Amino acid sequence: MQQQERVEKLKLESLNRKSLEDYKESEKIPVIVLLDQVRSMHNVGSLFRTSDAFAIEKIYLCGITPCPPHREIQKTALGATESVEWEHQENISELITNLKNEGYIIVGVEQVKGSILLQDYPINKEQKYVLIFGNEVEGISDSILHLIDIFIEIPQSGTKHSLNVSVCAGIVLWEWYRNLLR
Ligand code: SAH
Repeated sequence: MQQQERVEKLKLESLNRKSLEDYKESEKIPVIVLLDQVRSMHNVGSLFRTSDAFAIEKIYLCGITPCPPHREIQKTALGATESVEWEHQENISELITNLKNEGYIIVGVEQVKGSILLQDYPINKEQKYVLIFGNEVEGISDSILHLIDIFIEIPQSGTKHSLNVSVCAGIVLWEWYRNLLR
């Protein structure tokens, strides 16, 4: 009986989520997500859902990255393509240059020589960030590596070389969100 009561109580707890209108008006964290040639629609949808959760300013879908509306994106975005601001950009180098000029620090989330481990990177509350995630096979395009200010990497101890890009983004965006949230 006690167990039943506890279950009922847990279930009745309201999650108290924002309406679409309230979300659009609400404060965002100063982070832009830039997807560089991400191929999978399920990954793109998942990235939207996580970006909604962590109040990301905007998502840029670059190059071949598929754009909403699409059934396969919707499967994992679950409506987050309506709440999170997004734009498609073909010319990623030009986009990065413009965002740099607007004062954003350009962060490549990638495993490269000399990258900083996520837990060692001091996230600055006064700073605006662009976080770039790369293609599922190729990683971040060679042609933009020289435009990136710093690289951060999630340490791994298993047998696989990398994480799924949307899983990686979940970990990284949580780190930014918890540091920047006012
Ligand atoms: N270059 C990888 C494959 C890319 S994984 C390989 O050789 O296996 C797709 C994207 O996920 C990467 O471009 C990067 O943005 C991100 N990613 C995956 N695992 C990561 C990690 N451990 N640290 C940082 N970024 C990672």
